[in-house]
Amino acid sequence: MTSAHPLPENNSMPICRTHTLIIGAGPSGLAAAHRLAEAGIKPFIIEKSLYFGGLMRSIRRGPFIVDLGRKELYSRIPEVDAFWNKLLDDDYRVYSHRVGSLYHGRILEMSSAFRGIRRGMPFGALLSGGVDLGRAWLINGVRAPRNYQEYWYQRAGRRFARALAQGYWEKFRGQRWAELPVPQVHAEGQAARSHSFGAIAHGMKLAAQGGASDQRVWRHPARGSGQVCGRLIADISRAGIKVHFGSEVFAMACAEGRIADIFVRTPTGCVCFQARNVISSLQVEDLVALLGGGKAGQAPPARRRAVLLVYLFMDAPPRFPHAWLEVNDTALQCGRITNYAAFNGDMVPPGRTALCIEFFLDGDDPRLDRSSDAWTRLAIDECARSSLIDPAAIRDSMVIRLDRCNAAASWREAQENARLRMLGEIRPYRNLYHVYRPGTDWATFAGLMAGEAVLSGERQGFDQRADPTRSYAAANAAA
Ligand SMILES: Cc1cc2nc3c(=O)[nH]c(=O)nc-3n(C[C@H](O)[C@H](O)[C@H](O)COP(=O)(O)OP(=O)(O)OC[C@H]3O[C@@H](n4cnc5c(N)ncnc54)[C@H](O)[C@@H]3O)c2cc1C
Repeated sequence: MTSAHPLPENNSMPICRTHTLIIGAGPSGLAAAHRLAEAGIKPFIIEKSLYFGGLMRSIRRGPFIVDLGRKELYSRIPEVDAFWNKLLDDDYRVYSHRVGSLYHGRILEMSSAFRGIRRGMPFGALLSGGVDLGRAWLINGVRAPRNYQEYWYQRAGRRFARALAQGYWEKFRGQRWAELPVPQVHAEGQAARSHSFGAIAHGMKLAAQGGASDQRVWRHPARGSGQVCGRLIADISRAGIKVHFGSEVFAMACAEGRIADIFVRTPTGCVCFQARNVISSLQVEDLVALLGGGKAGQAPPARRRAVLLVYLFMDAPPRFPHAWLEVNDTALQCGRITNYAAFNGDMVPPGRTALCIEFFLDGDDPRLDRSSDAWTRLAIDECARSSLIDPAAIRDSMVIRLDRCNAAASWREAQENARLRMLGEIRPYRNLYHVYRPGTDWATFAGLMAGEAVLSGERQGFDQRADPTRSYAAANAAA
């Protein structure tokens, strides 16, 4: 056997041969397992943590259930929407998807569906914003924007852009508008000039989400987004398939265009897996590092982000009806505040709520060294200052730190040169299905397509329809 990389030194470890090895019990790995189980195939699933669900996990805390972060489930992929609908039935509930912008101590509506055109803006602010907008449109006619900030200020007016989008966007993505180029579509002169306020607000919302969606009906699992993974686990367990928790891949070796050996540290010792098919929900950087003999340093450095989540469990009802607030106020460090009472589910007992306060940080931000207590104090202080909570009503709190996690990731990141290079490096391995995708729906779709490809022995559909460098819509335009 030829191997591109040296094998781990302990090559006397037991060998386990299997039809399909699934790495990771998140939404993509579990969707693949579910598809295979339906066809009577029993994959071997390994998961390094002690939990299923990956980043689509819900956590029970006393009478509360919270998601890992906000977890807005998109229905932009009809196959996935139908799949979740079938899994959850009545528990896949419609909610009002009311989103607010927290700005200077006030909650503004992101949609005019709730408080009309004023969106909760005081009359004076609306008036000065309108004057500002008129001036911006005049400038728009005579001067080309030089950066992303000028682009939006010219389209939406500086005041409206700041009140509804800029602060949140910059925290979420860790980039300043003034340092970013004008959007490609405008630079190429293709932009349709819409001067309707609604179109602008909608455009800014899509920009903040990375162009994720403009869907109209929003649903959430009654017991948190982790309920999807819970149902998947229940179904595959009934088919006799087990998830092997606490089992981590630490190296891979390849031979003749295939992944030949996968080295796994399990609770009872190391095992070498040899699988006909490997479905991996590792991020591409990690996959490339493992293929390099487990030397993490071999992957080209990608910009690391982290998310710090503070949960506050309250003995009082929420003071706002929104599912979440995007924090555009630059005087506040937090980026987003989710209110689980607003998801029309059973996540919080009646008359109470649980909030998740998210801080989006660079991976090397020194603030990450703060203690959990310090983060909790900061979250309470920022919520109380904005009149969102009464600190006396807090009965419990919890802090979760997600290292190397970019909540703002979208398929666009896969188009960066470093990532394209990494995706190119794994492409030659014909028995490897890389199914990690940003977005739980896109990840689920990739998992389902990988399962399909394994069953048919034909991977072209997976390669084309679940192309990680494109959006679902672009990759499936011809399907
Ligand atoms: C803070 C945050 C907020 C987000 N919010 C949303 C949202 O609102 N809506 C949305 O649609 N998407 C959201 N996303 C994105 C979404 O969570 C991911 O796209 C999705 O979870 C990817 O699914 P996956 O199964 O491919 O990978 P993951 O969910 O990452 O699961 C991978 C699994 O593999 C396991 N694993 C990792 N390494 C190894 C190893 N070496 N050996 C064995 N097992 C391993 C992990 O423990 C994990 O369980 C968010 C992401 C973040 C970070």
